[in-house]
Amino acid sequence: MEAEVIKGQDLKKIAPVFGQQSFDDHEQVVFCYDKETGLKAIIGIHNSVLGPALGGTRMWNYESEWEALNDVLRLSRGMTFKNAITGLDLGGGKAVIIGDAKTQKSPELMRRFGQFVDSLSGKYITAEDVGMATKDMDTVREVTKHVTGISESLGGSGNPSPVTGYGVFMGMKAAAKYKFGVDTLEGKKILVQGVGNVGETLVKHIRNEGGEVFITDINQERLEEVSKKHGAKIYEGEDIYTADVDIYAPCALGATINDETIEKLKAKVIAGAANNQLAEEEKHGQLLLDKGIVYAPDFLINAGGVINVYAELKGFTREDTMRQTENIYNTTLEILKKAEESNMTTQKAAMKIAQDRIDQKKNEK
Ligand code: NAD
Repeated sequence: MEAEVIKGQDLKKIAPVFGQQSFDDHEQVVFCYDKETGLKAIIGIHNSVLGPALGGTRMWNYESEWEALNDVLRLSRGMTFKNAITGLDLGGGKAVIIGDAKTQKSPELMRRFGQFVDSLSGKYITAEDVGMATKDMDTVREVTKHVTGISESLGGSGNPSPVTGYGVFMGMKAAAKYKFGVDTLEGKKILVQGVGNVGETLVKHIRNEGGEVFITDINQERLEEVSKKHGAKIYEGEDIYTADVDIYAPCALGATINDETIEKLKAKVIAGAANNQLAEEEKHGQLLLDKGIVYAPDFLINAGGVINVYAELKGFTREDTMRQTENIYNTTLEILKKAEESNMTTQKAAMKIAQDRIDQKKNEK
């Protein structure tokens, strides 16, 4: 039988967990299984220096368990940097549940998952991610207090997506200011890829400011709905990466910035919500820099959602949340300038600031 290969790694030759590229110094990885409910979940705790590891739970029909493990490790590492750069006293973690969220999710399965989260005694705090809704977090809340993003009627902060969308808008404005010299998006042509929860809010803010928005989505119904509601144009071209636009906003999937797409891109700014947009951080960050495309690091500008759930943990007000989310504008601008001064990619500059904060805290301990 052929060895399974993930990202060019022959799994027969490497240690299956500690040896994975994405393992990157994880503190703890927890495998959760329950025969009765069919639960198969993995919780990744990447780093808890700044505080308890917080990150959402994703339910996805992974093609293999390796793919699920790789995903949770990459996402949980990303949360460490996101929480650190946003200035939150939180470490990075994430969970994945293997299965189809539409057909395999049940209240029993969510409660069983919640019990596993509870068994970690607050070292990991969960929230919603792809395949999860606020009501699922309400179910998890029945068995553990280590969950955020529960319904407002239960004292929670509700759906984080509108706050995420607002933060991405702020990051986009900062990147536009840096590249075009003006922070208004009026008259700018912007392509939004994926008009789900976050994408729609982003479209709304851009349209309110007078930007011209083109949208793409694999869901035709959704495309028509968002187009009608916000006056956005459905992108008609064959290849979205060749679109003649000023700004490209990936709000659907990760890894859309890669060898193939960078060559085609005409946009001068990339600012969107999707996690892990660069297929390979160093290589593709550098290729963007060489091409003069300004990249607003995803983990920096999509932090609105985590700011929202952090406020729930700390009892902050809605105004506090919006103020802190608005500050993504200042942080983004600062990092873009810093990257230029130090002649490094924006991704690297942002990660360095986050890592410095973690190292400083570690040294204080
Ligand atoms: P969502 O599931 O509501 O929306 C995603 C949309 O993308 C859907 O409409 C889907 O049909 C579309 N889509 C999927 N594949 C596509 C493709 N190949 N081309 C075009 N469209 C496609 O998700 P969301 O909550 O809006 O999140 C969007 C992205 O932002 C995700 O990558 C998510 O991980 C990230 N993110 C979300 C939050 C949050 O608060 N929701 C926070 C941080 C990061």
